[in-house]
Amino acid sequence: MVLAIAAVSIATTRAVIAAVHAPTMSAEQALKLLLEGNQRFVAGKLERPNQTPARRAEVAKGQHPFASVLACSDSRTPPEIIFDRGLGDIFTVRVAGNVADQVVIESLDYSVKHLGVRVVMVLGHRRCGAVIAAVEGHEEDNEDVGPMLRELKPAVAATRGMPGDPVENAVRENVKLVVKNLASSQELSALVKSGELKIVGGIYDLDTGTIEMLKD
Ligand SMILES: [Zn+2]
Repeated sequence: MVLAIAAVSIATTRAVIAAVHAPTMSAEQALKLLLEGNQRFVAGKLERPNQTPARRAEVAKGQHPFASVLACSDSRTPPEIIFDRGLGDIFTVRVAGNVADQVVIESLDYSVKHLGVRVVMVLGHRRCGAVIAAVEGHEEDNEDVGPMLRELKPAVAATRGMPGDPVENAVRENVKLVVKNLASSQELSALVKSGELKIVGGIYDLDTGTIEMLKD
């Protein structure tokens, strides 16, 4: 699938941006749907929409998700559950530390240009194990880290010595940096600049289930 996405993305880069898929809904509407679903989840009033056999049959013919979420692989942060959504609703990319390497960027690019998504949420979470590893690795000044921890290094470096909890500070900084990187990426920057695409950051609280939206 990754290869297919990469191929599509290369083809897209060569094509004109005019070929971008019509929006499934506006970024504002999509964000509202996500946050309303999160409120249901927090309150324990799940509606579990779009999880019926009829919905399965409907989306088997084609998908038009209304939002994309880049979340951590952490088993406690599945977007479909914490936003109370179902099949075909959210285009999800999950990787430890919710970092955005080129494969992640191209996956999100696919959801925007080919599936009609107009809002991308980068979702970090409190006490993220990947960030904890990066903070501890940084303290040890260990240069020999793998690609994932390398992606987290700028957030750890930027928050070093800041007051407060170093992990929570780095979690927030990492979300902000990933939002910024996506917004300035070759793939997505034109749509962000034209106002057609919104990229937002949020922090998921493992204890309460709430999502705090980060300011620009
Ligand atoms: Zn995590």
